[in-house]
Amino acid sequence: MNPPATTTSNSTATIEPKTVATPDLPTHEKTNRSTFDYTLAGTSTASVHAGEARQKPNDAITDSICCSSTYTFESTESILKYIREKQDREEYGRYGNPNEKVVERKLAALDHAEDAIIYSSGMAAIVGLLMTKLNAGDEIVFFDQCYHRSREFCAKHLSRFGVITRQVKTGDYDAMEAAINSKTKMIVSESPTNPHLSCIDLEQFVAIGKAHEVETLIDATLATPYNVLPIEYGVDYVWHSATKYMGGHNDLLAGVICGSKEKLEDVRKLRGILGGINSPHNMYLLERGLKTFALRMERHNDNGLRIARFLENHPRVERVYYPGLESHPSHEIAKQTMKGFGGLITFLVKDADWRRTADVIDACRIPRIAPSLGGVESLIEQPLVMSYFDYPPEIRAQFGIPDNMIRMSCGIEDGDDLIADLKQALDA
Ligand code: PLP
Repeated sequence: MNPPATTTSNSTATIEPKTVATPDLPTHEKTNRSTFDYTLAGTSTASVHAGEARQKPNDAITDSICCSSTYTFESTESILKYIREKQDREEYGRYGNPNEKVVERKLAALDHAEDAIIYSSGMAAIVGLLMTKLNAGDEIVFFDQCYHRSREFCAKHLSRFGVITRQVKTGDYDAMEAAINSKTKMIVSESPTNPHLSCIDLEQFVAIGKAHEVETLIDATLATPYNVLPIEYGVDYVWHSATKYMGGHNDLLAGVICGSKEKLEDVRKLRGILGGINSPHNMYLLERGLKTFALRMERHNDNGLRIARFLENHPRVERVYYPGLESHPSHEIAKQTMKGFGGLITFLVKDADWRRTADVIDACRIPRIAPSLGGVESLIEQPLVMSYFDYPPEIRAQFGIPDNMIRMSCGIEDGDDLIADLKQALDA
C-alpha cells in the first residue's frame, strides 16, 4: 500500500549531490549550475532549500521581495529574442513574479511533482484547474465529504457552464465507478476529508481513474506532503489550500495545484488570463513559513494524536473523528498511507445541544475561535455556527454536521497546555 517511490521524508538517507538542469531559473539564478534534486531529500531539507537559488542578488541568503507589476526589456531586439527563444524571464505581473516562482519550485519538490502553480487562495486554485480542464457537457464525480465551498462552486457555478457534478458517498468506490460515464473527465476527493477526516485508498482511487481513463484530483490540504504524497500513487493533480499548514502562520491566503508540466501547461496559461495570482509580499511570507513546514508538521501530528486520545477518553465526549485513532473507520488506510495524521480533530460533545456545545468552545482559553486550520495558533469552532449556519437542518444532517460537533485545529503550542485547557473547558 505504501507508495512505490523513494520517499525519504525525515529519513537519514544520504543525499547524493546531483547536477540537474535548471531551465526554469530566472536569469540571475542561472549561475547556479549545481543543485540537489530535493525530491530525494527529507521534507525538512526540501522545505528549507528547495526551489531557491544558491547564490542570490546582493549575496543575500533570503529572497528579496520583488515588487514589480511589469518587467522591462533592454530593447525591441530583446523582446523578440524573449518571444522567439521562449526565454524564461518575467514579462508582466499577472503571468508570474520571481517570489511566486521560488515557492512554486519549493512546493513541487515537496509534493514530488514536476510542477506547481500558485494561486491567490485555495479556492482560486480549484476554480483555475476546473475551468481549464472542463467543457460544457463534461461531468466530474466527487466523494461527498468535501469543503463546502468546493461543493458550492461545482453545484451552483460550474453547472451554469454546463458541467455536471455527481456526488457519491465518500469511500464508496463501487458507487464512484457506477457514476462514471463517457462524459466523465475527472474524479475528485479530499483525503483526509474536512471535517470527518475520512481517508481515501489512493491506490484504488487511481486504479479507477486509470481504468476509466479519467483524471484524478486529490485535495490534500489536511494531509500535506509531510504526511502523504498522492503524486507517488499516480494521482494527476494535488490541490492544497496553502493558507493552512504550508503558510502555517494564519497570515496569508494561497492555493496550489501540483502535477506534471504537461498537464499543467494549459492551467498556467489560463491563470495568466484569470489573474488569480498571488502577490510578491505574500509569496515571501509563504516561502518563510515553508522553511519550518516539516518541524511544524511534526508538532501538529504529535498534538493531534495526543489530544484526540485525550478527548476519546473524556466522559463528556461522545465521539472523536481522527484517523490516528483505532476507532476511526479510516484508521487502517490512514496507517498504510500517512506518516502522521495531522492536527485537525472533530468531536461531538455528549448529550449537548448547540448552546452547551458552544459553551465548551467559549470556555477554552488557548485555542482561538476562528475558521481555518493548520496555523501555529490552535483554532476551535462549531461547524453549525461557523460554516453551516445558513443550511437547513436536513441538509446539515445529510452532510453529517450535528449541532454538538466541534472542530479543533491543533496548533504548535505545548500539548500538555492544550489538553489541560480542553479538560477545564469540558469539565466546566
Ligand atoms: N480545501 C480545504 C480542505 C479547505 O479546508 C479549504 C478552506 O478552508 C480550502 C480547500 C479552500 O482554501 P482557501 O481558503 O485557501 O481558499
